[in-house]
Amino acid sequence: MIITIDGPAGSGKSTVARLLAHRLGLRFLDTGAMYRAVALAVLRSHTNQHDAQAVSQIAAGCSIRFHDNRLLLNQQDVTSEIRMPEVATAASIVASNPAVRASLVQQQQQIGESGGLVTEGRDQGTVVFPHARHKYFLTASLDARTRRRLAELDQKGQPGSWEEIREQIRQRDERDEKRALAPMKPASDAVIVDTSELTVEQVVELLCRSVTPE
Ligand code: C5P
Repeated sequence: MIITIDGPAGSGKSTVARLLAHRLGLRFLDTGAMYRAVALAVLRSHTNQHDAQAVSQIAAGCSIRFHDNRLLLNQQDVTSEIRMPEVATAASIVASNPAVRASLVQQQQQIGESGGLVTEGRDQGTVVFPHARHKYFLTASLDARTRRRLAELDQKGQPGSWEEIREQIRQRDERDEKRALAPMKPASDAVIVDTSELTVEQVVELLCRSVTPE
């Protein structure tokens, strides 16, 4: 069984997907982390993020692997580093590169080959697993998502400004929605869940109840 959970930044999809996978005894795949890993490699090499050829070359040389809930980029643990705001912004830029997408989509499909997966991202239900049995698209208002991101940063001891975070999320949404290739959008057969007024537990419960056993 494959369950896809797509949606914009801060919609709660990552936390929900992880918990849902745990509840159902399935594997969990965070595809955003893969785009972030490529972005980190690009940033580290001081390459222009908009230089399609240079970015594809760097992506081709990246080995990305998940191990024990950690993300390894060329065997190095980059789990914390990929969460930096500049990596998120760079990820949404390199994610419009066709070669980067082709390579990551192929890796994601390979991971999904053995089934038993809850996968989250922007294109999981539309492009990567169009035949997935259960598809969800989580949304939330920009204000709710800004509030969540600020709370997350606060927990890490990195307080941010409301305007700055809100604008970063808004710009990322815009890039993800408007790109030509695999733009962020709900699959035509996805269930859309507005999480603005719901707790993580409520969303997990809702999804759990709607996933019928095969
Ligand atoms: O979900 P996360 O915030 O980690 O994703 C980082 C960026 O990676 C997104 O803004 C998006 O541009 C890109 N992404 C994507 N397709 C996915 C997952 C993430 O384009 N399946």
